[in-house]
Amino acid sequence: MAGFSDAPSAGGASRVPFGEVTIEKPRIPEEGRLELAPADDKVGQMGPTGRPMPLFPVPEPLASHGPAWVLAMCNQKGGVGKTTSTINLGAALAEYGRRVLLVDFDPQGALSVGLGINPNQFELTVHDLLLGAGDTDINDVIIETQVENLDLLPSNIDLSAGEVLLVSEVGREHSLTRTLRPVLDEYDVILVDCQPSLGLLTVNALTAADAVIIPLECEYFALRGVALLLQTIDKIRDRLNSRLDLAGILATMYDARTLHAREVLARVVERFPDEVFHTVINRTVRFPETTVAGEPITTYAPTSVGAAGYRRLARELISRRVTPPVVG
Ligand code: ADP
Ligand code: MG
Repeated sequence: MAGFSDAPSAGGASRVPFGEVTIEKPRIPEEGRLELAPADDKVGQMGPTGRPMPLFPVPEPLASHGPAWVLAMCNQKGGVGKTTSTINLGAALAEYGRRVLLVDFDPQGALSVGLGINPNQFELTVHDLLLGAGDTDINDVIIETQVENLDLLPSNIDLSAGEVLLVSEVGREHSLTRTLRPVLDEYDVILVDCQPSLGLLTVNALTAADAVIIPLECEYFALRGVALLLQTIDKIRDRLNSRLDLAGILATMYDARTLHAREVLARVVERFPDEVFHTVINRTVRFPETTVAGEPITTYAPTSVGAAGYRRLARELISRRVTPPVVG
């Protein structure tokens, strides 16, 4: 373990159960200490998107909670950072005192796994709520995670079958909206981790959402499919959910050392100058590690660049939210 040393709160190496095997949880490297980002670091400096980084103030504590701002993390391309962003943005918002519900809306259940939770252990999942005749209480399905203020509505492979059955339901696009309604007042933010498709589940997520976050991997073809996604968002706004907004486009897996990533990011900013978040998430092996560890980066490597990135995103998101949500 050369190059590793003790670091605060994440502590030293520990054993982490992962399925059948137990793996060694790595310690935070020494440079992790330098990554501790105060709230206003980089302010005024040129950010990776080629614009000066504004101040995103640490949000004030809330006097009361709810109604929730529902955000869909959406891109029909797989592997762009939807699940990683859902977990870590959620955890960062929870650190800022927001009550957060994460909705696993991908039958793969990766969101649950990323939080160290086996999605196959549950008798009740989001699937029962979508298709049930109102006889399942959402509060019996929601579980607390190890992070304070962060709850999870789990799903598993049943949701795949659920999508097929949902097709023949009346009001099939509004199933998630109905499902979430009873808990809207209990949370400040609900983040829905969408599956990599524009099928009925994603349509449900977009119908239930106040706004969409589109993660884009800083790789070739990042923009491929975005036009189709934006068209879909327009259609949903026209036909199913007039309040649907684009919260922003999030550049993920950015490696400033490569010309390629810089070029891709420049192209994304050129195409969507107003939509791209100033916050860019760096590519770091820390993220795959957090999945194995089953916890957000904000607790696993609290002083890392990755944790600072999602905290900044949380602050930027809160500062972008100008209009209050329409309730009802
Ligand atoms: P999606 O939900 O869009 O399919 P994931 O969030 O599951 O994407 O990410 C895909 C893979 O990339 C995962 O293995 C994840 O750990 C890894 N990953 C996500 N974000 C980053 C990042 N910023 N740097 C490095 N790896 C990342
Ligand atoms: Mg995913």
